[in-house]
Amino acid sequence: MFVTVNDWPALSNLLGQTNMGYNACTHCFEDLDSIFLKTCRKVVYISHCQFLPVDHLVRKKGKHFKGKADHRAKPHNQTEDDILEMVKDMKVVFGKRQSSKPVPKDTQGHTPMWKKKSIFWELPYWHDLEVRHTIDVMHLTKNLYVNLLRFMGVYGKRKDSLEVRQDLQEMKEQGNLHPKKIDDGRQYLSPPSYTQSKEEKESMFECLNSINVSSRFSSNIKRIINVQEKKFLNLKFHDCHVLMT
Ligand SMILES: [Zn+2]
Repeated sequence: MFVTVNDWPALSNLLGQTNMGYNACTHCFEDLDSIFLKTCRKVVYISHCQFLPVDHLVRKKGKHFKGKADHRAKPHNQTEDDILEMVKDMKVVFGKRQSSKPVPKDTQGHTPMWKKKSIFWELPYWHDLEVRHTIDVMHLTKNLYVNLLRFMGVYGKRKDSLEVRQDLQEMKEQGNLHPKKIDDGRQYLSPPSYTQSKEEKESMFECLNSINVSSRFSSNIKRIINVQEKKFLNLKFHDCHVLMT
């Protein structure tokens, strides 16, 4: 065996590393910057700027999170030795009985980075592999597209909710997006810059509705969209390729 191909939840099991909560990234390790949003009750990750080119505009002062400049370099790749060093002394007893011994929480009381030493380390050649686990592209593409369409407000529940805006307000970020009280007591959410106008949405769904592809290329796009409400009803991997095109 030279590599495992799995979806995101299975990755955590095979790797022995947590991939949610405060220590979610299986590449960044300690360099991951996570914060907890109180109203949304969600952990989010804000260290993505470190992957941009060093002179990128977003890294400059004022544009970045909390108005500060961000000069962090991207996290260096952990070698096989580094990772083995982290897991080699782990003694975990599984189960819910009194004799069970899970990995203790980290210093800040968050879920620990490692859950166990993966059984694959018992393979004599496991240490010599450069890439040991991969995520399958079908799950990845589909999840990415569902999130993207949610951001655009055309798939399921919107990502851009009142709770998100309240968290922005509490963090004193992006003043123009804070919720405003209007006369009848309801909250007004100003549209963010990436929102499509009514006409833009109409033309997008008109285009999707007119797509004809050869049989078995993808599902019938007309059946997975609701043109009146301008929403996607369902999305499968092959449909993402139609959207890309
Ligand atoms: Zn990361």
